[in-house]
Amino acid sequence: MKEVILAKCGELVLKGLNRSNFENILMNNIKQKLKDDLKSIRSAQSTVYIELNEGADPDLVVEKLTKVFGISSISRAGIFEKDIEKIKKGACEYLRDELTLAKTFKVESKRSDKKFPLKSPEISAITGGEILKNFRHLKVDVNNPDIVVTVEIRDNNAFVHGARIKGAGGMPTSSNGKAAVLISGGIDSPVAAYMMAKRGLSLDAIHFFSSPYTSEKAKEKVIELTRIISGYAGKINLHIVPFTQQQLEIKKMCKNEHMTLIMRRMMMQIAERIAKKNRCDGLITGESLGQVASQTLLALAVTGECVKMPILRPLVGMDKEEIVTIARKIGTFETSILPYEDCCTVFVPKHPTTKPKLSSILESESKIDMEYWIQKAVDETYVIEVSK
Ligand code: ATP
Ligand code: MG
Repeated sequence: MKEVILAKCGELVLKGLNRSNFENILMNNIKQKLKDDLKSIRSAQSTVYIELNEGADPDLVVEKLTKVFGISSISRAGIFEKDIEKIKKGACEYLRDELTLAKTFKVESKRSDKKFPLKSPEISAITGGEILKNFRHLKVDVNNPDIVVTVEIRDNNAFVHGARIKGAGGMPTSSNGKAAVLISGGIDSPVAAYMMAKRGLSLDAIHFFSSPYTSEKAKEKVIELTRIISGYAGKINLHIVPFTQQQLEIKKMCKNEHMTLIMRRMMMQIAERIAKKNRCDGLITGESLGQVASQTLLALAVTGECVKMPILRPLVGMDKEEIVTIARKIGTFETSILPYEDCCTVFVPKHPTTKPKLSSILESESKIDMEYWIQKAVDETYVIEVSK
């Protein structure tokens, strides 16, 4: 029996004239994800039709598709001729296992080919009747059935499917351009990366690394977190910025209570230069309002003041519990909580300012040659290609 996987487009449906653009990007992302498993792919009526090569495991493919942004739901469907006899028999055969396990069911039909001689309620009634005849234990329940059998009469064929699996939602990765995420080994920044990839950004990642104050293990942790995110966002170039000398210089020359903010201002400027070089149009951080001293509103203002690129802070209004829930869902949490030091935590002042004044930060900052240290970091940065 011929089978196809139907991936329903989510928010894309709302797009007007450039919808086909978005659909093409989505299909490209699916191609990259499925590689050799894919035999053919096309889109019509807000649905992507995916045919698999022989030997491909459809369950595994569905699992992979649940990580592709821009898809609202996924179902495996049997393909039948547009003949009600074949449809009703086909439904019983194709969904035999699911119908055997269920206690209740209903049939829903959609007829986008209006030339098909039966109307949707008639298609449902006939198919439902055949199912009841073949599966004597089943009862119809229109409100809360164990299984919804869907019959779709489309342009060239009829499709029958059972369970619909929830997709990742959002918009296709790269349909909204590219941004650079500042990724630490913590819980927040991987979640921020995921959230912005879900809004259609492809990603570069930037990590500040302070050897020997932070260990190789800490770097490996960041590579692993980036790898998990690349399962959703596609290939990510991870830029590793050696940052020890800069931190030591700030510690030596600047006021202790200003240390974190000056360090963060330097990070943002280094990140902006790396982002520009790599054709990114924005920066992403995992900052959340008020979570730590450097994330008060005034501190965020001081941190953001030194760069022109938009800074996207998708977690800004979320509390820790909400962030942790997402981290668990996307599979980064367990890695994030591994106990390796981050460069920010090594050099924390005892009494950081929570109400910084830009003028006093600038005064403190003027003790070091910012331009020299920023450019030095950019020049010493190296790239690791990460993909899942
Ligand atoms: P996270 O959980 O992401 O580590 P956090 O709650 O520890 O965040 P901070 O340490 O203040 O908060 O960092 C705020 C943001 O700055 C991070 O979410 C991340 O985007 C960026 N950042 C912090 N440290 C680094 C680093 N070593 N390399 C790259 N980005 C960093
Ligand atoms: Mg951190």
